[in-house]
Amino acid sequence: MPILCASHLKKYYGKDENLVKALDNVNVSVDKGQFVAVIGTSGSGKSTLLNMLGGLDVPTSGSVQVEDQSIEKMSEEQLTVFRRRRIGFIFQNYNLIPYLTAYENIVLPVRLDGKKEDKGFLKEIVQFLELDKKLQNYPSHLSGGQQQRVAISRALVSKPAIILADEPTGNLDSRTGDKVIDLLKMTSEKFSQTIVMITHNSKIAEKADVQIRIEDGKIRS
Ligand code: ADP
Repeated sequence: MPILCASHLKKYYGKDENLVKALDNVNVSVDKGQFVAVIGTSGSGKSTLLNMLGGLDVPTSGSVQVEDQSIEKMSEEQLTVFRRRRIGFIFQNYNLIPYLTAYENIVLPVRLDGKKEDKGFLKEIVQFLELDKKLQNYPSHLSGGQQQRVAISRALVSKPAIILADEPTGNLDSRTGDKVIDLLKMTSEKFSQTIVMITHNSKIAEKADVQIRIEDGKIRS
């Protein structure tokens, strides 16, 4: 039983001579606990696919099922709660809140959900990512790589069922990038988390259980 399933997904932008078929009849099925890499060149449709899978954007047609719930059938409110509880996003541009410290950024989704963070687990993550001495810093006093690691910690700390990551290693040196992939693999195994990660780097993609190649909005096998 797949945890994540996209059927006949189309996303078109513009029209007539400006029509862009960002996704053109895409079918994707991801099993629970799988670590999937979506690989493709720039403009191939990777981010569009991830946004649809996480309910951040609405497809032109087709459907997305997450844990046997249809995203398109949820109200905006249901979707917000669902995303916060079940999905951890790691964005390319970090999306950190500038007036919150690294620590406050990391625990924000858990607290918004009215819960308390698992302090032991949080410590494990931040130590592994070498952030433990930076937790009181504001994002403006963190390097790009450190900000990315804060964003990764934030996605992991609530132990979501699914992690959707857009080029999580894009701004990291290769050693730190490898560590991040190891951490994602480790948490996916430990908590049976499902990970869908975008990358254009085939070396990184090889570390995933499954690779999905996308070209001009279509899946290539
Ligand atoms: P990737 O993540 O692989 O770089 P994207 O999913 O961002 O690719 O983009 C796929 C295609 O859709 C590209 O041709 C891009 O220019 C186009 N596109 C993405 N978002 C928009 C948008 N909001 N409006 C118009 N075109 C878009």
